[in-house]
Amino acid sequence: MIKIKEIHKSFGENQVLKGIDLEVKKGEVVVLLGPSGSGKTTFLRCLNFLETADQGKIVIENQLTDIATATKKEILQIQRSTAMVFQNYALFTNKTALENIAMPLVLTQGKSKNEARTIAKRLLKKVGLEDRADHYPVQLSGGQQQRIGIARALALNPAVILFDEPTSALDPELVSQTLALIQSLAKEGITMILVTHEMQFAHDVADQVVFMEHGHIVESGTPQELFYTPKEERTKIFLSRFT
Ligand code: ATP
Repeated sequence: MIKIKEIHKSFGENQVLKGIDLEVKKGEVVVLLGPSGSGKTTFLRCLNFLETADQGKIVIENQLTDIATATKKEILQIQRSTAMVFQNYALFTNKTALENIAMPLVLTQGKSKNEARTIAKRLLKKVGLEDRADHYPVQLSGGQQQRIGIARALALNPAVILFDEPTSALDPELVSQTLALIQSLAKEGITMILVTHEMQFAHDVADQVVFMEHGHIVESGTPQELFYTPKEERTKIFLSRFT
């Protein structure tokens, strides 16, 4: 179980997150929806300290961290428990597919190079790219690069994987492959928090859907509740375009 309490974040005068609470059970898939600028990406980035929230608490793997007073060790621990899959893949361009997966294991988990390569090969196979191990990102399609990004996150065996609009940079025909991979991970019980604009996918994959606007959670519930019987007028209006 992951508990996130009262996350606040401002950029200057711009209050982007105004007290976000979220509980994610082990194996649960939480999808964050909301209009552009509502704070979804910032929320994910605060969870693994790519941004430092101004205030808030995170309980992950039974460890409570107060963000405002977090020590370096606590921050590192949270970063190890949360792996991010980025919109633009964020692969190292001068490393091969295999190295992109193996290197973080050596650097952040102290694995030996051999052990890391073995894990990376297993993950490449899992995402269907074992024959691309020695390719550089530029030699791979966007969909393949994103699968490497997902393999890299999986290799770290984190408590939760954070997906930030993982398909928004992909050509339409590559979107479904990537979504199918994420869906198969959900079936395996990988805990995930996903930001996406793919409504059908959100409906199909989520255990919990969270609708955010202006840095607040407006409403959350099962896909059935949010998509078909939303309580709040704003949720109705936002989701009416998709149902
Ligand atoms: P989208 O769906 O378009 O990706 P979002 O809901 O993910 O939007 P965020 O990217 O979290 O929204 O942005 C929320 C607000 O925070 C925006 O007003 C944005 O300009 C601002 N913001 C995000 N990152 C920064 C930053 N590093 N510096 C200043 N402002 C930022």
